Amino acid sequence: MAKTLALRSLRAYIDYTLDKRATLTALFRGVVDACDADPYLLRAAKYHGEQVERKCPVCKKLELVELRYTFGDQLGQFSGRIKSPQELTAMESEFGEFSVYVVEVCRGCSWNHLCSTFILGDGTTRKPPRKVRTLEDE
Ligand SMILES: [Zn+2]
Repeated sequence: MAKTLALRSLRAYIDYTLDKRATLTALFRGVVDACDADPYLLRAAKYHGEQVERKCPVCKKLELVELRYTFGDQLGQFSGRIKSPQELTAMESEFGEFSVYVVEVCRGCSWNHLCSTFILGDGTTRKPPRKVRTLEDE
């Protein structure tokens, strides 16, 4: 999945497939209600979700999308934003290091789960983008 994006700086990739199975097992046992995507997540899925060609593991509909959240000190106030695969490719050479969290969300039944995490960036540490702050913070 993420590996097909040809992200050349990709590292520290963690696949959460096994964890996902465990969650699904619990879900079908009725122990956990994983279909609890909050309104914010569902709205993000609607406007920023990248359609994927696999079915939702819960409702079997083709309404599954992926969201890629980016986090990192070097992103400054932009940490936590959702980015498209294309934007991630551009960010690889703009930042030294940042984490990507891939979350799948079903727009049919609200199933959501962390798919994978990995680190991108060219390894050159940069200062976060400027934001409104006092000189003492420098
Ligand atoms: Zn579903």
